[in-house]
Amino acid sequence: MSLTRDIKDFALDIGYSHVGITSADDFSDFIDEVQSRGRLYDFYVEDPRKLLTGAQPKKCMPEAKSIISVVWDYSQKAFPESLLGKIGRIYQARCYNAPPHRINGARYKLLSDFLEKNGCQIGRGFLLPERRVAARAGVATFGKNNFAYAKNTGSFILLSSIVVDKELEYDSPTYEIKCPKDCTACMDACPTGAIYEPLKLNPRRCIAFNAWRTQDGFPGVTSYIPPEIREKMGTRVHGCDVCQEACPRNSAKLKSKLPQDPFLVQLAEDFSLPKMLEMSDQFYEKTVRPIMYNYISDKKYFQRNAAIALGNTGLAEHIPALDQAMDNPEELVRGYAAWGLGRIGGEKARSVLERRLKKESSSYVISEIRAALES
Ligand code: SF4
Ligand code: SF4
Repeated sequence: MSLTRDIKDFALDIGYSHVGITSADDFSDFIDEVQSRGRLYDFYVEDPRKLLTGAQPKKCMPEAKSIISVVWDYSQKAFPESLLGKIGRIYQARCYNAPPHRINGARYKLLSDFLEKNGCQIGRGFLLPERRVAARAGVATFGKNNFAYAKNTGSFILLSSIVVDKELEYDSPTYEIKCPKDCTACMDACPTGAIYEPLKLNPRRCIAFNAWRTQDGFPGVTSYIPPEIREKMGTRVHGCDVCQEACPRNSAKLKSKLPQDPFLVQLAEDFSLPKMLEMSDQFYEKTVRPIMYNYISDKKYFQRNAAIALGNTGLAEHIPALDQAMDNPEELVRGYAAWGLGRIGGEKARSVLERRLKKESSSYVISEIRAALES
């Protein structure tokens, strides 16, 4: 058997649903596309991890010859109803390749170890444009919503790839948009109008982007989320699946009866938005980090998102939790708690805001309280 066949057999054996192989040539079209989007994508171009450099694998690893692209179907078990609409499926499914002691990281490490045992040198320390890699390796097509779709699986997939120094047999690319010609369901469903043309996303309007990328210290962004977007985030504190849920290419998967995931069932029992706003150390370690540990560096951003979500419920029962959050030492949390109170509105919320205004010393929080009182 060839090394190509051995690699594919091993990847399928450890649970990946598709595996394809392509050359390590540059993804020049991807680089051109990102650069053509100008300021919308400056956060990506300026990312300290040099994401565009990864689109030139041979620049990162001169011996690079091939890229192995694998697909993990993360929708094989049911997602608890109480978590849907709050946490994106990909996070619930713990879809991270790092750290290696979590399930997807362990699977990825198994594949890496197999390749090394079979004489391959592996490229490390750079990130590839996974959707482009998967399409060139023949394991994914595109949707107008920008997501990659795997055959008979849909878009609820994790794409990962590994660059190696061996010449392998390459698969035929599947660079196609496989959507019904007149379908615009994803664009119509997007709460913020972030998909402004097929295959064109304004990340600054995307809820998923706003929920995690808006952290201070990242290039091209701040922790500020515009009020118009806050309102449209609903109760989503991490991720957004709306444009995938609306998609007919996912309907078979969404309708299928899946077995429960006992880990998620237990986690869902512990999870609530008020607990996320309060964020005890135990809640952060036991309930938040297992499903969201990779993208957000500081728990205050989850607390901000929880304050937005509680405000968007419009329920007066959450006023005490938001009032208490206005004692938080982080002005970010206090400012968004004020917004949440203004969003709920009514006399009770107003009296909390007026009381807090008298005590507050941060000019940022004062501006949020005043805006909330005027709203
Ligand atoms: S993830 Fe949500 S906000 Fe972003 S494009 Fe899709 S539907 Fe719109
Ligand atoms: S909703 Fe329609 S247009 Fe959008 S990705 Fe799915 S099939 Fe394509």
